[in-house]
Amino acid sequence: MLTAISRYGARVLPNTEEIVAGCKARSEFIQGPQIAQFEHAFAERLGGGHAVAASYGRMAFYYVLKALALPPGSEIVLPALTFWVIPELARVAGLKVVFADVDPTTFAMDPPSLERAITTATRAVVPTHLYGLSCDMDAIMAIASRHGLKVIEDCAHSLGAMFDGRQVGTFGDAGFFSFQTLKPLNCYGGGMALIKDAALARGVREMAEREPWPDDKRIDNRLLVGRLQRIFIKPWVFSISAFPILWMSSLIGANPDVYLWEEIRSLDPLPDAYRERFPNVQAAIGLAALDHLDEWTERSRRHARVMDQALGDLPGIIVPHVPPKRTHVYYQYCVYGPQRDELVVRCVRRGIDIETLHVDVCSDLDLFAGTRVEPPDAPGAHRATGAMQVPVYTTLTDDQAARVARVVRGVLARASGPRTKN
Ligand SMILES: *Cc1c(COP(=O)(O)O)cnc(C)c1O
Repeated sequence: MLTAISRYGARVLPNTEEIVAGCKARSEFIQGPQIAQFEHAFAERLGGGHAVAASYGRMAFYYVLKALALPPGSEIVLPALTFWVIPELARVAGLKVVFADVDPTTFAMDPPSLERAITTATRAVVPTHLYGLSCDMDAIMAIASRHGLKVIEDCAHSLGAMFDGRQVGTFGDAGFFSFQTLKPLNCYGGGMALIKDAALARGVREMAEREPWPDDKRIDNRLLVGRLQRIFIKPWVFSISAFPILWMSSLIGANPDVYLWEEIRSLDPLPDAYRERFPNVQAAIGLAALDHLDEWTERSRRHARVMDQALGDLPGIIVPHVPPKRTHVYYQYCVYGPQRDELVVRCVRRGIDIETLHVDVCSDLDLFAGTRVEPPDAPGAHRATGAMQVPVYTTLTDDQAARVARVVRGVLARASGPRTKN
């Protein structure tokens, strides 16, 4: 039987169950000392600032916006290509969203587009370090300082990525991180704000700590879902569950959303589920996971190098570009090639599940109808939707990564003309 390789893999601590049992035994499942320890360790690892844990990365962002207390009607510039929830929460926080385009070679905010998006009402900018690669922080910080803008870095994909020797999340007034199951540091949910200024950090903490504690049952369920996801994406389970659906749809041209993304909708008023404190058991998992982060990142990097070598020389194929001064943590490995949709179908038929768009062209969503975009047609964001995302996640074995490289190379080589090697 064909063992399929899924598009995602979660980073899981081998001793998760022990950590959970330990918190329960100490009666520190919900409240406990690991929350503050995790915040300290996180800030220290990134090289300073004040870290505040929250129920979600998006809520960390929301609290930062509220604590900044920008005048009503202030404009905030976000990239047109990002997770729709982030601009939506900027709007829920009372700001007017404006979109700047992204550079399709790096998928990061395009500084000239940012410059064009700025008006006299602009007060803040959100550089999103998409897919694991830093934005050009020299250019963005220079523009922000020229126009007196607050900078809030979206680091949900990029914990550990660097620009000019410095961690992302430490350039702006604040950065925020996500601890969802598939993100670089998996705590089965949660997020962190990293804030430069002590007074701003106090404001964020007041808001985060005013939320109610979740109850045990809710967190038990969350950890159970995490456990199920972990089982579900093991190659052999994936092969007998989700993969036949994908394989069948590849025959009939359907596009099943087997991974169930959140429905795109207004988040005003904020869903009740957002309003809770980050529990101790998830902090304990995060604290232990920090010790593995470098090793996890290095495994993804190693798989990415295997793909670079396998695909980099094929005519018409563009592998991820890492400009000088930046390091990539490869949350996603994005490749451009001709006839993308046919290529994806061929990879799926050969047992490799390939994702095509991991985030949203927000400027095209009904939710943001009427929002200003610079330039109006967002050509970079649209070009970026033509990429395909080859699995390089940490939990792939070296053999699996080699198989992904072999299959994808075979498929791309056939599409891009005569073979140049093998
Ligand atoms: C996941 C994600 C977030 C938000 O993280 P949550 O913890 O789910 O709120 C923010 N930005 C981007 C680009 C993301 O992918």
